[in-house]
Amino acid sequence: MINLLDLNKENLASVIDDKPYRAAQIFNWVFGKGLRDIEKMSNIPRKIRHDISHRAYIGYPEVAQIKRSSDNTEKIAYALEDGNIIESVLIPEKDHWSICVSSQAGCAMGCTFCCTARLGFTRNLSLGEIISQVLFPVHTYPERNFRNVVFMGMGEPLLNYENVVKAISIITDPDGPRISKRRITVSTCGILEMMPFLWKDTGAGLAVSLNATTQAQRSAIMPITRKYPLTGLIDALRAYQLPNRRRITIEYVLLGGFNDSREDARRLIGLLHGLKVKVNIIPLNPWPGCPFNAPDEKTVLAFEERLKDSPVAVMLRKEKGNDISAACGQLAGGTLNVDKKAC
Ligand code: SF4
Repeated sequence: MINLLDLNKENLASVIDDKPYRAAQIFNWVFGKGLRDIEKMSNIPRKIRHDISHRAYIGYPEVAQIKRSSDNTEKIAYALEDGNIIESVLIPEKDHWSICVSSQAGCAMGCTFCCTARLGFTRNLSLGEIISQVLFPVHTYPERNFRNVVFMGMGEPLLNYENVVKAISIITDPDGPRISKRRITVSTCGILEMMPFLWKDTGAGLAVSLNATTQAQRSAIMPITRKYPLTGLIDALRAYQLPNRRRITIEYVLLGGFNDSREDARRLIGLLHGLKVKVNIIPLNPWPGCPFNAPDEKTVLAFEERLKDSPVAVMLRKEKGNDISAACGQLAGGTLNVDKKAC
């Protein structure tokens, strides 16, 4: 049996062996309206519905747990068919919501400040497992005006490239959830061989998790730096092709006493000189067993001020969902012991 959530528009057309507009109609039912029952596709002839039902189904992961933070951020744990648990986060903004989705069960990258890394890597998520993290909230809470999707949850999205690209094509399709390409951001620790394709293949924004300013410092917290040295990453950012007004986001997790000094800020400004980037400063949210401390508030503000005094655009990210371990770097669904509950 085929899960229709695992098919993009093109794949759907080859499975639905009928007139071309039929696949678009079915696509709209599944992704645009969030329908879960093929028999309820009212503009599809009964015989075709019947035929599809014998070959395919619409299969969402189970919602295992929803936790709500005091700031209304929600963390959703999904139980996958093979027993893995993944998490995504719904983040309330002023007049809309954002969805932070996972692309892998666990992660192989081993960043020492990140809770997901402790799980190790299990597997890439299927297209259906990625897209359902968007479809479930969009169709369950239509009043929330979901406008942004960020691939910043569990896993390294560029190592599940094909499914991430297909997911973005569905999320942005006029017959699907219709979220603007400009509102989608893919975050990477710096998989250099895949980075150049992202903009061309998706039109989505790129965020790079930098977090350090020297080779030795970055290698100590992000093992990927041993494969792709910091100089190569900066060269790749310089070569990254973007339209004029777009910028790459640089994520800089501030680790207390490790990368938050005046000297770190000075080096960061120098490293990013001349690049089309904006820096997101993210004060660490320590999780139990985390080897780093949160930076103190005075240090965070001083770091921000130093960047503000330079040509580098900077934003201090206000952390949300900290009390439910939904903040950046805190997702570790594989370790949850949760009661399962159907969506
Ligand atoms: S920060 Fe991102 S790339 Fe690094 S271990 Fe965590 S999920 Fe993986």
